Amino acid sequence: MKKSKDDVVAIVDALKALYPDGICSLEYKKDYELLFSVRLAAQCTDERVNKVTPALYARFPTLQALAEADVSEVESYIHSTGFFRAKAKDIVLASQILIRDYGGKVPDTMEDLLKLPGVGRKTANLILGDVYHTPGVVVADTHCIRISGLLGLTDGTKDPGKVEQQLRQILPPEESNDFCHRLVLHGRAVCIARRPQCQQCVLRPWCDYFTKNGGESPAKKPKEKKAST
Ligand code: SF4
Repeated sequence: MKKSKDDVVAIVDALKALYPDGICSLEYKKDYELLFSVRLAAQCTDERVNKVTPALYARFPTLQALAEADVSEVESYIHSTGFFRAKAKDIVLASQILIRDYGGKVPDTMEDLLKLPGVGRKTANLILGDVYHTPGVVVADTHCIRISGLLGLTDGTKDPGKVEQQLRQILPPEESNDFCHRLVLHGRAVCIARRPQCQQCVLRPWCDYFTKNGGESPAKKPKEKKAST
């Protein structure tokens, strides 16, 4: 069911009231640390990434140190995040490119961000939203894709590019980045994949899934694929 502007604002406000700090759950101090933490979070939890990054950034405290790092040593710090060889290679190479081509700063355009190794639209959007506070940013991660579809904010597509496009058309631009972070929080706490807690959900009044199914869990749906980064 197509959502009215009032419904969208109501959903945005309800999530805002529930999760006032619409922030990324990855911990970072510098722009490039967020970039690399997102890379490490591919096929891994943010919680695990937050456990390994303090030691990594203590051993390599600057971008220059990471650019000069031995890849196998970086691997040893990030081993538990999975796909550690590819991730370590990307981190060292991206550090070299950031120093060589961007004066040591993470670029602020989608075009330049996508040139960095291991960076896809999701990562680029996260940087644009969280580091540069660019309006209209939509980070279509797995929670965002799933819950937007259940609510009826999208047509139910699982394609991250289409979700990005459809949400961008209806969300207030200045709210969209935090909204996506809040959907992640909601997806972990309430609208949990395969066992959503509809009876405790503040979004029930506007949720297409809840309206159509009388609150029955969407648990029986096939397992969704994890979105790319
Ligand atoms: S009502 Fe249920 S399906 Fe809809 S957003 Fe809330 S938990 Fe998810």
